Amino acid sequence: MSTLMPAIFIGHGNPMITLSKNAYTDAWEEIGRLIPRPKAVLAVSAHWYITGSAVTTSTAPSTIHDFGGFPRELHEVQYPAPGCPELARHVKGLLSPLSVELDNNWGLDHGTWAVLRHLFPKADIPVVQLSIDRTKPPVFHYELAKRLVSLREEGVLVVGSGNIVHNLHAYAWGNNSAQPYDWAERFEKHMREFIRKGDDVNVIAYEKLGEDAGLSVPSPDHFLPLLYILGLRTENENISFPVEGFDGRSMSMLSVQIG
Ligand code: ZN
Repeated sequence: MSTLMPAIFIGHGNPMITLSKNAYTDAWEEIGRLIPRPKAVLAVSAHWYITGSAVTTSTAPSTIHDFGGFPRELHEVQYPAPGCPELARHVKGLLSPLSVELDNNWGLDHGTWAVLRHLFPKADIPVVQLSIDRTKPPVFHYELAKRLVSLREEGVLVVGSGNIVHNLHAYAWGNNSAQPYDWAERFEKHMREFIRKGDDVNVIAYEKLGEDAGLSVPSPDHFLPLLYILGLRTENENISFPVEGFDGRSMSMLSVQIG
């Protein structure tokens, strides 16, 4: 069991967070220092939410600045980690007979680089991204992850990047440390309880939390990366929350580590 690489969901939040030194980036750096050095990273980012399953095959993935309205400094960030076409093909094989496209165009979107540049600042660990098929229900993503568990034995770090609570419409821009909304706190608390107890069924069925779920997860893109990490948990394996907090009232920065 101890030879298994951990798997981590990271709440990436507002892209500006990656630019400064703060409690979140300090915690991300700490995670990078504490885990065994991975052979490669398989990233599942909220920002590659497309029709169909795909993996990136570029040997030199570009740093994608997939946002607008942010300062030039953020657009100038580069994360020149190499790709790993062998890992991409291996993931495709593990997921067979599911059709997985080998994509040579997508690089590393900000869901991936915003956190990896703190986990692995040297950008010397190869990174492959796996898309999130937007046409599939939550349980699909959880079951898909189960087929990737052998990657952990092979020293591959699976990183899910999203946010358990992510409501941009309600986000308090410029008021980062404001008290979170009640619905955001309640929803995160429920999820944390389910995760701690290993009650994945109720995480997958998050919509049962009604209005709190509707406000916390107005679209599933930032929530689903969590299911890729929970699906990789082996029986009775340790689970922890190495980063916590809320940003701008409606963004949970909670991270979840398996192993
Ligand atoms: Zn995001």
